[in-house]
Amino acid sequence: MSLEEIKTRIAKAEAEAGRAAGSVELIAVSKVQPNQRVAAVLNEGHRCYGENRVQEAAGKWPDFRTQFIGIDLHLIGPLQTNKARQAFELFQSIHSVDRPKLANTIARLAQEVGHCPDLFLQVNTGEEPQKAGVLPRDADAFISECKTMDLPVKGLMCIPPAEEEASLHFALLAKIAARNGLDGLSMGMSSDFEIAISFGATHVRVGSAIFGARAYDTAG
Ligand SMILES: *Cc1c(COP(=O)(O)O)cnc(C)c1O
Repeated sequence: MSLEEIKTRIAKAEAEAGRAAGSVELIAVSKVQPNQRVAAVLNEGHRCYGENRVQEAAGKWPDFRTQFIGIDLHLIGPLQTNKARQAFELFQSIHSVDRPKLANTIARLAQEVGHCPDLFLQVNTGEEPQKAGVLPRDADAFISECKTMDLPVKGLMCIPPAEEEASLHFALLAKIAARNGLDGLSMGMSSDFEIAISFGATHVRVGSAIFGARAYDTAG
């Protein structure tokens, strides 16, 4: 696939869902991809990217930022509190706010530095023990807690269990967001972003469909 093809498919899914053209933000997930593949997509004009590790992002994006203006970087993977300060310097959005301790750290940093990335609260819709995110039954309380801290909460994020019907999880996330007055929905990846859009996704996180398979143990 190419960036253009994915953008066309997003536009089609928006239209089919009766959504406004351009209402879905495409986060190109560049984790693990070789720099030349990322540079190629930057050269096509795309500016919105996602990384799942602070360390990896710190190793490549400061360089890209000297070459391309307007880069919008999203953290989509787990964040340790001791990396929060670094995450503030690198990312415009954090999609993995998943516990009060992290929310507190972010609130304190925001006070100190005078700005805060846009935040998405991660919900573990599949209640998988190995996965990050608050449980659906704890989501309302966590959302209120974050609002009390004056955090810029834009919406919710989920990663459905691989072996389950993603649509059930997208519907659940949309329902939790709606009853809490949140508009942002970060959901949908290479295999299911069109379904996510039909359930109201505002941010889709698409990696391999744009860049090709991730080569974890070779230079790619
Ligand atoms: C890697 C990753 C993606 C992208 O996955 P693809 O299947 O390559 O599109 C999306 N979201 C998160 C949280 C990821 O870690």
